[in-house]
Amino acid sequence: MKSISRCLLALFLLSNLLLSSDFTNRLKNYPVYWIGKQRYVSLQTIIKILGVGSWGRIEDRIFIEYQGKILKGSIGTADFYVDDRRVSLDHPIREIEKEVFIPVEPFDQIISTITVSIQQKEPAKPSENPVIAEKEKPTIASKSNPVRDFIILIDPGHGGHDNGAVGNYGLKEKDVNLDISLRLRSYLTGYFKKGSKIIVKMTREDDRFLSLDERVEIAKKEKADIFFCVHTNSSRLNRWNADGFETYYPSRKSEISFASTAQPDESAESETNTEVVFQIVSELNTTSVIEESRILAEIVQEKLAERLICPDRGAKPASFYVLRYTPMVSVLVEVGFICNPNIEANLRDPEVRQAISETLGKAIIQYLKAKQIIE
Ligand SMILES: [Zn+2]
Repeated sequence: MKSISRCLLALFLLSNLLLSSDFTNRLKNYPVYWIGKQRYVSLQTIIKILGVGSWGRIEDRIFIEYQGKILKGSIGTADFYVDDRRVSLDHPIREIEKEVFIPVEPFDQIISTITVSIQQKEPAKPSENPVIAEKEKPTIASKSNPVRDFIILIDPGHGGHDNGAVGNYGLKEKDVNLDISLRLRSYLTGYFKKGSKIIVKMTREDDRFLSLDERVEIAKKEKADIFFCVHTNSSRLNRWNADGFETYYPSRKSEISFASTAQPDESAESETNTEVVFQIVSELNTTSVIEESRILAEIVQEKLAERLICPDRGAKPASFYVLRYTPMVSVLVEVGFICNPNIEANLRDPEVRQAISETLGKAIIQYLKAKQIIE
């Protein structure tokens, strides 16, 4: 009797192991992070891998609907619930850079038991998990395909609970970015009119939070030709005198496609530091996309220098997440230093915002003309 139950236990463990490796196998195409001695995976990745239709986050609480069950957890605790049955993740759910991270192996175990019970009920049912999306090919601004719409995707930085930089007198970067972006869209749509093949879209049109991952996903889904990020600068060392505008283009383009063993930097706050948590195996062959991004960044700087009376800090390569992981031409403009009280006052002025927006719009138009995408 004892040996039979031992045998059953061994079988159960084996089936668990096989199913675990199914989740783990699919995880190989996504980044995995070490926090201390525990491997973590982002909630966004879990949602993609499991093909979760419904999920949400309210403050520190998260929920995922999977195979008809409700999984719940809270940031900072290891407690986890499947429907209302309490299980443990052994390690707490973490939040880093607004992204939620869940311990890999304990979560895998929980998912496996759900899959086991489903399979026992319906042995013939095929897996509902989606196949991992095909790798996106890099796209580049080109006149070779005149029929297709040309999509400019404007990405106002930050939003929702993420204020971005905040000025000494309370002006929030997220609001400046959004207003300038909306004005930029109006300027461009006014220029191109209806029926034009140039379509202008936005990652957000209101005060909402979007993770960096989500922004990249939107850019890919919309098949944007230009991904144009609008930010407002801040300096920690020189809060009162920092001045000028700068535009970044990608130093390289990459695709996240491998589980990383890199130690994440938990203190990382800025987008600049995001890259340290990834180990990239496939660098996209995107020399021309990077070159095009550099050209666009330089035109943006040139136009801003003509219009604004403040220092031209230049077009610079950077490895910001949104520049690196979007496969298309992408730039990130920092329109001014909100930490400098004089600039903060200027950035409150609708006329200044309008002038900046029009200048950015003119830069984009000049780029499209130079590339013979428009007449
Ligand atoms: Zn920003």
